[in-house]
Amino acid sequence: MQALREVLIWLKRELEDIDPDSAYLEAELLISYVLNKDRSFIYTVDFIEEEKIKEIKKLLDFRKKGIPINYILKKKFFYDYEFFTDTGVLIPRNETELLVDVVIDTIKSYSFEKIVDIGVGSGNLAVTLAKKVDKLTIYACDISPNALKIAKINAQKHGVIDRIKFFLGPYLYPITMRNLQFDLIISNPPYIASWEMPFLQKEVKREPWEALYGGWNGCIFYEDIFKEFKKMDKGIFIFEISPFIYNDLVKLINKTFSKIEFYVYKDLSQKNRVIKLIW
Ligand code: GLN
Repeated sequence: MQALREVLIWLKRELEDIDPDSAYLEAELLISYVLNKDRSFIYTVDFIEEEKIKEIKKLLDFRKKGIPINYILKKKFFYDYEFFTDTGVLIPRNETELLVDVVIDTIKSYSFEKIVDIGVGSGNLAVTLAKKVDKLTIYACDISPNALKIAKINAQKHGVIDRIKFFLGPYLYPITMRNLQFDLIISNPPYIASWEMPFLQKEVKREPWEALYGGWNGCIFYEDIFKEFKKMDKGIFIFEISPFIYNDLVKLINKTFSKIEFYVYKDLSQKNRVIKLIW
């Protein structure tokens, strides 16, 4: 037995080497995870068993090796819901909540009923939209079978599995090959450029590169999907970008489409983050 307060302070100090800003929070989260209780619970007990301390040390080792905290805790909060997260899917990011807002506004103003989510990942977008918009059907695609498995777990967890159809495959192919009709396409695609990859945090490098890497200029996904769009008479595409690729992407859009409506949305740090294209 050891005093829990002491373990908390020790763990916080250890975690400070990784990230001083989140060290205290992470220490609380790891201890409450090992005790299988809420964060507030740790302030209601005085002592912690040696067995549990051993487990905490193991998790600390994982953190020191760069395993993201959300892969250890196996969860991440996104928008209004908690998502199961594990190796093999991108950990949902807070910035992506903006995409959800823009999509919900668009769906409501056009009364859309069927949408396609390319690169469903953990299912954070598909599940949140299914929860927030009644009667919406989502065709969720991903090139990773593992991601589809995790997205299904999240759809089940939040009771929307009957409104999300899952497909394995790239881009829009799983949908167009089945001749399925839809009103809107959304995506948070891979958009990290080659030059950025070496500078990614150790933790981010643990996330699936297929979910991150966007080719030499970060725009390869967009380039490929725009070719598909050119074959369609009309459509709406709402997607996330990185502020780093914004200028290249605008050039690509102007080069590809002769006539297009184009809207940009800024995130909370005033960075260009979401684009809506209507053609
Ligand atoms: N749709 C998921 C997200 O927004 C996954 C995106 C991806 O894997 N690139 O987090």
